Amino acid sequence: MSSRPPIVTILGHVDHGKTSLLDFIRKSSVAAKEHGGITQHIGAYQIEIPQESKSRESEANREIPRQARDDFAVSRKITFIDTPGHVAFEKMRSRGAKVADIAVLVVAADDGIMPQTIEAIKHIQEAKVPLIVAVNKIDLPGINLKVQLEKIKKQLSDREILAEEYGGDVPIVPLSAKTGEGVDKLLETILLVAELNEIKADPNTAVAGVVIEANLDKFKGPVATILVRSGTLKKGDEILIGGVKSKIRGLFDFSGKSVTLVGPSTPVEVLGLEVVPAVGAVLGEEPKAEEDLRQQQTQSLVDKLKQGPAKTLKVIIKADKQGSLEAIQASLEKFNEESQVINFIALGTGDIGEENIKMAATVGAIVIGFNVKVTPTTQKLAENEHVLIRTYNIIYELLEDVEEVVNTLLEVGQLEEVLGKANIIAEFPYGKSDRVAGCRMIGGIIAKGQRIRVIREGTLIGETKLKALRKVKEEVNKVEKGNDCGMLFDPPVDFQTGDVIESFRVI
Ligand code: GDP
Repeated sequence: MSSRPPIVTILGHVDHGKTSLLDFIRKSSVAAKEHGGITQHIGAYQIEIPQESKSRESEANREIPRQARDDFAVSRKITFIDTPGHVAFEKMRSRGAKVADIAVLVVAADDGIMPQTIEAIKHIQEAKVPLIVAVNKIDLPGINLKVQLEKIKKQLSDREILAEEYGGDVPIVPLSAKTGEGVDKLLETILLVAELNEIKADPNTAVAGVVIEANLDKFKGPVATILVRSGTLKKGDEILIGGVKSKIRGLFDFSGKSVTLVGPSTPVEVLGLEVVPAVGAVLGEEPKAEEDLRQQQTQSLVDKLKQGPAKTLKVIIKADKQGSLEAIQASLEKFNEESQVINFIALGTGDIGEENIKMAATVGAIVIGFNVKVTPTTQKLAENEHVLIRTYNIIYELLEDVEEVVNTLLEVGQLEEVLGKANIIAEFPYGKSDRVAGCRMIGGIIAKGQRIRVIREGTLIGETKLKALRKVKEEVNKVEKGNDCGMLFDPPVDFQTGDVIESFRVI
């Protein structure tokens, strides 16, 4: 095992400066300075911290054992993930994948703890990752830092986050993502926490990693950003993601440069995948039911798009940054794979303004905002003009909603999957007024509680639910092909002998 760069995620309340901090760190990194800036292509990046700054942090180094310090000297890199912290946590924790090694909780010095700060704290505590609190915006004029810091530490201690001064082990780093003051100290603290937590991996073991972003690119096909946690990922490797085997055709680092292999803690864009994996999917993992469903869903959508004349959804998109805007557009392009469903009327950065609403009203578009605001006047105008505005700060929520709108638009109604089929071969009275359908299963599985449709000569007679199921005299939960059974529906439905019933679910 050797040391690897810590993987850090930044969480906190909206507007407390997460993005500014990530941007500042990236832009002030040595590589960025040497290359005149680095455009980040994926939702993660890595920086390397020059050795000189280490000596300035003698305090930090004193506590580190000698051996660790030597390891430390060779590995002064930090990986930052910039998918919104809580999304990363939720999606990945649900699959048991640990992504971040360290969480940085950003709290604005003027605001203190806010609702999303509390939410972030919950995620961090559940994930049991070491935490550093960055008190941001210390440059704000009129801030009494001492008083605010005390207040924040007190608020944190109420949530069982104990600052070092309170006898705990949570470092509190005051800084400004605007002027950069204190950012060096944060980076040193991250490295120190990483050392103390012995963040290690074996570069020679089987590769393990997790998908932190994925989308279908119009030109490149399925593309995913994978964070390698251990082992080494090489071009040409065959990997299993989300239960599907793919051969890696290309690897690109966060700046878009082609690379042939990557080691632990490195984020990398991977090309050549057979399908778009789910965020949080783990390399080598067998497929999960949930993923199957997701893939089916995308597939059904694509299938639907192949049929019939495509209608289009006109959209105006406003995002906080060019990067987000491009990411959203690229993700939405997946709906345009088969035919043009989404028509991009206008794309821009900045808040949603009255001119956007006017344009939307003229062409019949909807307005989508990402990390941007809508003023009350704009909102009012939109209401008067019957223009729909939706704002998001989580990309996948935006995509999910658009997918839903697209579905409705294409008049596919709901996407349904037939689970089982049976013929009604007899009927029996039941109770005072109910009837039981005597059925012969002809395919699939029908189970209690499922939604049921009655079809007569190809025409839908009614829909109901399966309330009770009997095989001979015995109450059962499900029946399979080849079985005869009695079915009781609730609410009652007007079936007759000769009808076909189908059980189905809505995806
Ligand atoms: P996020 O929502 O947490 O990603 O917050 P942003 O990074 O977008 O920052 C929200 C606002 O606070 C922006 O207007 C930033 O310019 C401002 N901001 C962020 N960090 C600082 C800081 O250290 N000092 C000051 N004065 N403003 C900051």
